[in-house]
Amino acid sequence: MFPSTKKVTREQTKIHNNRLVLKTIYAHGEISRADIARITRLTATTVSGIVAESITKGLVEEVGSIPVARGKPPTLLSMAKDSRQLIGLDLARSEFQGAVMNMRGEQLQQASIAVDEQTGEEALGLVYDLIDTLIVTTEMPLLGIGIAAPGIIDAGNGVVRHAVNFGWYDLPLRQLLNDRYDLPVYVANDNDVAVLAEYTFGEYKSSSDLVVVSAGHGIGAGIVLGGQLFYGHGFGAGEIGHVAVVENGERCMCGNYGCLETISSSRAIVKRAQSIAQANPNSLVHQFVPDLQELKIGAVVQAFEAGDSELQEVIADVGHYLGVALANLVGVLSVPTILVAGSVAQFGQPLLATLREVVAKNSLAALASHTKIEFSSLGRDIVFLGTTALLLSQELGVV
Ligand SMILES: [Zn+2]
Repeated sequence: MFPSTKKVTREQTKIHNNRLVLKTIYAHGEISRADIARITRLTATTVSGIVAESITKGLVEEVGSIPVARGKPPTLLSMAKDSRQLIGLDLARSEFQGAVMNMRGEQLQQASIAVDEQTGEEALGLVYDLIDTLIVTTEMPLLGIGIAAPGIIDAGNGVVRHAVNFGWYDLPLRQLLNDRYDLPVYVANDNDVAVLAEYTFGEYKSSSDLVVVSAGHGIGAGIVLGGQLFYGHGFGAGEIGHVAVVENGERCMCGNYGCLETISSSRAIVKRAQSIAQANPNSLVHQFVPDLQELKIGAVVQAFEAGDSELQEVIADVGHYLGVALANLVGVLSVPTILVAGSVAQFGQPLLATLREVVAKNSLAALASHTKIEFSSLGRDIVFLGTTALLLSQELGVV
């Protein structure tokens, strides 16, 4: 919406109308020019003009017509989903992952690069390598690059204020990538990207108040309030992973002790499963991974599902501490829905039952009963869908 106090220029009106028409086509899948005019309240001439221009650009295509009893059947329009491609990067896992997607967020290519103990500069080099690998596979014009990064991110300026795991401080990532690739670049916190994915493509899409807690390599919450992403004053809203929950707990990579991530992140779970299996030759973990050094969260999930008794206790702890964090979110934000995403969600119904129980026990009954705790339905693709949403909203205004 344009601010009412300022005079709206012709150019602004054109951009606004253009976005409105594209957004309507994107949301409806297939729609006629007449229906677009009816929904947007633009004149038929304006709609036809914008549609003609979008067809010339290849963004929109005619996909058939609606059968009618008499007269000329109206032609249906659709977004040409493969007419532009997008690159999305997820820097918040144990390896850097990237994908090339179309405008519906369908992944066309994937690539990943192992991340170890790199310096900040080396980690940046890996980001370049990953984009270089993906960019040569693209076959259509690129809409831009969307980056989901861990840590404190100034999304407005595309600056990584602070990412402990790579030692990035005030890194102007957007500017660096923009200079190198000459494409639009957007950088956002991975948890914010996850909630954007749910808000745009998920089961609870367009819920004006929504929280997604991502529990994987790290833990954090993305928060949408009143239909807007809530970043907080220092861009750190939702950084619940580094709230200390265990007194005299283990040292965390942030330098503090007993953070939620030292208990409920996939890293912490794998570490505990390793020491359990090392001490106990009968642990079911051995059945799913021959070399404990190679243990990953997937094999821990398998051993848990096979009934390993010690892992039941581990996941009960994971659920307890994560549940307390959710109860705090319920108390502070009173949102109707909190979705849990990330690799830790693979522990499934037993984990979800613990989370719901702990939230019910640790929040006001009236609040808890109004908050649904569910797993995200978007699975592993959530972050890539979020980078797609980021680029579609910023570049085309269609979501
Ligand atoms: Zn920490």
